[in-house]
Amino acid sequence: MVQRVLLASPRGYCAGVERAVETVERALALYGAPVYVRKQIVHNAHVVRELEERGAIFVEDERDAPRGATLVLSAHGVAPSVHRHAAERSLTTIDATCPLVTKVHVQARRYAADGHHVVLIGHAGHEEVVGTMGEAPEAITLVESVDDAERLTLAPGPVAYITQTTLSVDETAEIVDVLRRRFPAIRAPQREDICYATSNRQWAVKELLEHVDLLLVIGSRNSSNSNRLVEVARASAVAAHLIDDETEIEAAWLDGVETVGITSGASAPERLVTRVCDWFRERGIDDIAPFSSVYEDVVFRLPVELRRAESSAA
Ligand code: SF4
Repeated sequence: MVQRVLLASPRGYCAGVERAVETVERALALYGAPVYVRKQIVHNAHVVRELEERGAIFVEDERDAPRGATLVLSAHGVAPSVHRHAAERSLTTIDATCPLVTKVHVQARRYAADGHHVVLIGHAGHEEVVGTMGEAPEAITLVESVDDAERLTLAPGPVAYITQTTLSVDETAEIVDVLRRRFPAIRAPQREDICYATSNRQWAVKELLEHVDLLLVIGSRNSSNSNRLVEVARASAVAAHLIDDETEIEAAWLDGVETVGITSGASAPERLVTRVCDWFRERGIDDIAPFSSVYEDVVFRLPVELRRAESSAA
């Protein structure tokens, strides 16, 4: 019988998601509906649905937006070809790519321009990976696992690596170890590409794990960093489930559980955590307490195109 709920901290929205969601909200206020958004602005079904209700139209491809429309580009970043297509259709683009993703794009371009072959550690098909690979497709090879790194064959020449921002810190370290062994002169980014929010949420979960019997991660199925939080728990033999909201909690998961840990991915709004806590309260569990590990105070400025448009409209 559940006695206690502990809330991991930090959890939920990161600065890049905060910025991307606010960008769509402010674009709607400035231009009026509809505002087109390429792909899910952030990987959370609730956030996307709420923005749709306010007039955002999500499209899979920039060429699906009507000529001359306003198009917001999602936090995950895009390949240069997307900007080209948008210009061809005379779209007004507002680029909500997270600055930490942009940093990885810049590294990819620099390494490729310096004649390096670039190994990108990441997950095939993830929007961020598609966007980063688009910076220099002929020079970048994707590596998803330790096995991929062991099997990698590259033409002779300088090699560098970069990573997706939302990976497992531990698994990435193992892949990097293999790359360093196989390519001792490999160049590495000066600062870790896995972003502060991804690493902090994984640290917070690790600290929490020894105090809980079950971890619930609030986040959508396509949220990379949320899936990594589930993996962190399972790697320590703690049962963990990814849920979009409280309606997905299964009573059987709570059998024999005394303490439940709750965290949320970087794209999950805090109101979903509140709803899950209310679900437990309705079942008589009032001992719900925060469990803090790292303090975060990162904030990013809104996209420059939006700031300029807002000041011309003022
Ligand atoms: S998870 Fe990291 S890289 Fe992605 S939007 Fe948030 S801060 Fe930026």
